[in-house]
Amino acid sequence: MRFSKAFIPTSKEAPSEAVLVSHILLWRAGFVSQVASGLYNYLPLGKRVLRKIENIINDEMSRCGAQEVELSFVTPAELWQESGRIEKFGKELLRFKDRKENLFVLGPTHEEMMVNVIRNRLTSYKQLPMNLYQIKTKFRDEARPRFGLMRSREFIMKDGYSFHANEEDLDREFEAMEAAYKRILERLGLEFRIVEADSGAIGGSGSKELMVIADSGEDTIAICSHCEYGANIEAALCSQRSEIPEAPEADFNKFKTPNIKSIEDLSNFFKIDSFYTVKTIAMRAIYEEEEKIVLFFLRGNDTLQEVKATNAAKALELMDVSEEELKDAGLVAGFMGPLDMNNFTCIFDEALQNADSMICGANEVDYHYVGVDMKVLKEAEFADLAQVQEGDGCPYCNGTLSFTKGIEVGHIFKLGTTYSKALKAEFLNEKGQSVPLIMGTYGMGVSRLIAAVIEQHHDEKGCVWTKETAPYTLNIMVSNIKDEEQFALGEKLYAAFRKAGLEVMIDDRKERFGFKMKDAELIGFPYTLIIGKELVNGNVQLFDRKKDEKIVIEASKAFDGVMDIVK
Ligand code: ATP
Ligand code: MG
Repeated sequence: MRFSKAFIPTSKEAPSEAVLVSHILLWRAGFVSQVASGLYNYLPLGKRVLRKIENIINDEMSRCGAQEVELSFVTPAELWQESGRIEKFGKELLRFKDRKENLFVLGPTHEEMMVNVIRNRLTSYKQLPMNLYQIKTKFRDEARPRFGLMRSREFIMKDGYSFHANEEDLDREFEAMEAAYKRILERLGLEFRIVEADSGAIGGSGSKELMVIADSGEDTIAICSHCEYGANIEAALCSQRSEIPEAPEADFNKFKTPNIKSIEDLSNFFKIDSFYTVKTIAMRAIYEEEEKIVLFFLRGNDTLQEVKATNAAKALELMDVSEEELKDAGLVAGFMGPLDMNNFTCIFDEALQNADSMICGANEVDYHYVGVDMKVLKEAEFADLAQVQEGDGCPYCNGTLSFTKGIEVGHIFKLGTTYSKALKAEFLNEKGQSVPLIMGTYGMGVSRLIAAVIEQHHDEKGCVWTKETAPYTLNIMVSNIKDEEQFALGEKLYAAFRKAGLEVMIDDRKERFGFKMKDAELIGFPYTLIIGKELVNGNVQLFDRKKDEKIVIEASKAFDGVMDIVK
């Protein structure tokens, strides 16, 4: 491609709302332009990067025997009613009616559609397993579209769905997909971690996320210092505390605690470790058909993990409750506790199982109970509610957990029969029985990956594309196109590299060298071959964007010299 003819609208400024490096740079370097909140156009350079990522995905998918399809973006709402997800997805799901008043949605993901495609077509165990995928536009009316391609409303996802006759075969495919996703991210040149993830309301056993390590990531992941264990904080586990602080000695009693409302005040007041206090958190749990207050109880030194709590309450969402609302419900802010709370749904953190010598609110202003043995709560429901903390022990080895930030670029999930049951997709097994298909689902954020590459690979001057993601590998920079010798060598090499199949661009614009070089750095070509003043001495220079250094090559040997390095 000739720069003089290319549509690469670079600019010095980025829009003021852009805060993320990738958003700013992809905009400034002319890869994308914005249409409206969360809607983007891919300009020629952006489209090239997109295609590269797609090619790698296609390549790795066909190696695993997955077959590509392309399903309609516009999806009948009936399918979403059948699965019951039309309510669960809420406002993220964009709905509309056609001229005949039929209700449709813009596909935010395609489980329903894919099940609809295969039901009544995959009808025998002999046709299984089957893995079908697509790379396709998705639409989610995100509450807060932001960060450019990272969280947009229209975006491109690779979504794959596999169908199996039994769990073992699903496990095998899940592992194959995990390995394929790993290879894709390695080829893209990304540093990442595969972590255990929350399986959400859908349930299911295995769920893993692929996290690109970056400070700007929206997810916090806990990783072990010693073994492979890594988990999204929403699902992270830790080992039990090894050092148990000394227990306070007190018989069961009600104690006056004037104005002692926080865990900190409480442990100071009694001069005890907060480990022996009960933290009570009231939340409004939202369900499809109702709302109610749910009480969560933890040890005072733990904090509530909201995703874990949402799952434990089997709620769609949890919302904070104001002091007013607490009062109306007959609860006393600052003095809530687990005793005599039969009118409420109560869920206890596992760390409270068998806890003794505890101090908790007495559900009465200015009073707490001391010496509480949790065993008095006979039918208490326990769940993992606490958020792991940095320094906690790894649940699998002696290592300790530390936190890092990640960008979720992929999510793979053992769905089981949730959708096949709801949508009645059955097959005949070896015994001749009609049973629901067992499913896996494998998503990858293709457009988000473009942003993720830049979050990890950039510097103050601009993008630094990795080998397999660069829109062009080499940029030939003719420093002064009025110089006949420079121009002729540039054209000759341009033709030769093109013939050799290298993705090459020639900057033949009538601009100053410094200006052109700034663009080259902003765009982030891995290599720029500078044909400039040095040519009179028989030399050219190859600029390596990543190393930020130039090496001198004899002009007469430029072709081979460059090929050796860039290939
Ligand atoms: P997130 O927690 O970031 O909202 P999600 O759990 O909703 O993601 P999935 O439904 O698992 O995402 O979708 C699969 C993949 O699609 C994600 O791993 C992510 O890479 C990508 N993705 C999801 N939402 C967006 C979005 N709004 N913009 C760009 N990519 C997205
Ligand atoms: Mg989401």
